[in-house]
Amino acid sequence: MTEPSIFTRILSGDIPGEIVLETETVFAIRDINPQAPLHMLVIPKTEQFRDVTELAAGDPQLLAEMVAVAKRIADEHANGEYRLIFNNGPSAAQSVFHVHAHVLGNLEENKLVG
Ligand code: C5P
Repeated sequence: MTEPSIFTRILSGDIPGEIVLETETVFAIRDINPQAPLHMLVIPKTEQFRDVTELAAGDPQLLAEMVAVAKRIADEHANGEYRLIFNNGPSAAQSVFHVHAHVLGNLEENKLVG
């Protein structure tokens, strides 16, 4: 058996994390190292998919649920607008290999480039 991912451990309460929203299939946490005024992670409860490429091929419905939850977060914590980022692979800054979406918002407050 492989070790549970850091996100699975947060979901199970094994390590601390701020779970802000949960559905049957996904959950969201506040990123511990925020890069924007709003920075949350949307994560499937299953850790069977390493990245969004695998997820899109294997369970597009679950990917759609992640996007719907990102929009709910943006509605509740920003003005409904949001940036959605998936890092795919170490050279693209992915550090946790349990697929997750970064939801960034309220960006006018810190003028992110790109
Ligand atoms: O895309 P990447 O894999 O680099 O993203 C992992 C994210 O998980 C980072 O933004 C990091 O701050 C966040 N994280 C967290 N809580 C932890 C460990 C990592 O919010 N306990």
